[in-house]
Amino acid sequence: MTITRGYAATAAKAPLTPTTFERRAPREDDVSIDIKFCGVCHSDIHQARDEWGGAAFPMVPGHEVAGIVSAVGSKVTKFKVGDHVGVGCFVDSCTQCATRNVDLEQYMPGLVQTYNGVEGDGVTPTMGGYSEHMVVKEGYVLSIPDNLPLDAAAPLLCAGITLYSPLHHWKAGPGKKVAIIGMGGLGHMGVKLAHAMGADVTVLSQSLSKQEDGMRFGAAHYYATSDAATFDKLQGEFDLIINTVGANIDWNAYINLLKVDGTMVLIGVPEKPVPVMAHVLIGGRRTLAGSMIGSIKETQEMLDFCGKHDIVADIELIKIQDINDAYDRVIKSDVRYRFVIDIASLAA
Ligand code: ZN
Repeated sequence: MTITRGYAATAAKAPLTPTTFERRAPREDDVSIDIKFCGVCHSDIHQARDEWGGAAFPMVPGHEVAGIVSAVGSKVTKFKVGDHVGVGCFVDSCTQCATRNVDLEQYMPGLVQTYNGVEGDGVTPTMGGYSEHMVVKEGYVLSIPDNLPLDAAAPLLCAGITLYSPLHHWKAGPGKKVAIIGMGGLGHMGVKLAHAMGADVTVLSQSLSKQEDGMRFGAAHYYATSDAATFDKLQGEFDLIINTVGANIDWNAYINLLKVDGTMVLIGVPEKPVPVMAHVLIGGRRTLAGSMIGSIKETQEMLDFCGKHDIVADIELIKIQDINDAYDRVIKSDVRYRFVIDIASLAA
């Protein structure tokens, strides 16, 4: 057992405060990680404030973990002390399930979330990356390429894979026109990744305030969705649209921007049901789909791709003492483009 410092939510309405808790001693198949940085995901806020229900407190959030291996169990073969590693949204899954064999463990009922979950023993609550130390089964640890800075690489573990997986699955690449709705923490990764895959990328954002950044990230086109002319001009334009926003948008107007056989993928979670007129789908053999993070295999593939193309998130590095302010700013979309906690600040 190791006593670990971190920051925890103690109740849905409480700010995050310093805490200490125990991490297990590494077992033979475990990797022990000194956490250096942890990204701040909007879903951390939903869970810490129990907005999705079922929150268990105290809760140490954080599933965009980047760190350095400090010890390995006797049967670990893929990692050694000093390696740069990451941990994403889950730390275990049901290995009995046949789905495991096709690398879709993120969709399995036995998935163990990195925090606000329960370990395979059925009793120990999982605690996330807003902490200085973590012990994770080898099979759920990712290798971060050495050329990527660990702080800006941390958001790849959730924001990065959340965009990479649908872009890859629906074959974004040369000759494909891809639109990204929203240019926040998720959207800006989508622009970078789709561009690197060779697609022609368009950002659909409420205003043009982030246009310069969008073009720098690799977008070829940038439109304001507050301008009704955008929806006339772009009708039938895209092979693939990825919706990263949780707002309740005019779904039919967006689906109308798809070509015949085009697909719109939801990764943001709107509060209300999605009202879609059947004819906008039928009239173009279009698909409305959803996607959630990615498998361990695909996450490693994404990290290797990012290493090859030098892709990381654009981040604002914060001290952990500023986490509650950061949460308020994430809710206001006042971050360019992802907050990352410098875990060294825990020692201050
Ligand atoms: Zn996340």
